Amino acid sequence: MTSYEVVVIVGLGIISRRWIQNPNRCADEYLDGIEDFIEFARTHNPGATRIRCPCGMCNNTLWETIENVGFHLVMNGMIETYSI
Ligand SMILES: [Zn+2]
Repeated sequence: MTSYEVVVIVGLGIISRRWIQNPNRCADEYLDGIEDFIEFARTHNPGATRIRCPCGMCNNTLWETIENVGFHLVMNGMIETYSI
């Protein structure tokens, strides 16, 4: 499924979007993707406690702690418009 292997600008940089499209949010791939995103967010926002949350509820407009963003992504999924 190479079409899923595209990368996406997420405002902070580029990550793989493959896991974002996984409909099973309990899948290891999805949870690993969230972990990667959190790690990515920490790396690119050194010292920051809050980032804009890209979950389906916050719609990339609300600021949440990085830990909460992880929970939001599990509960709400990542907004589709986050991927191009
Ligand atoms: Zn959120």
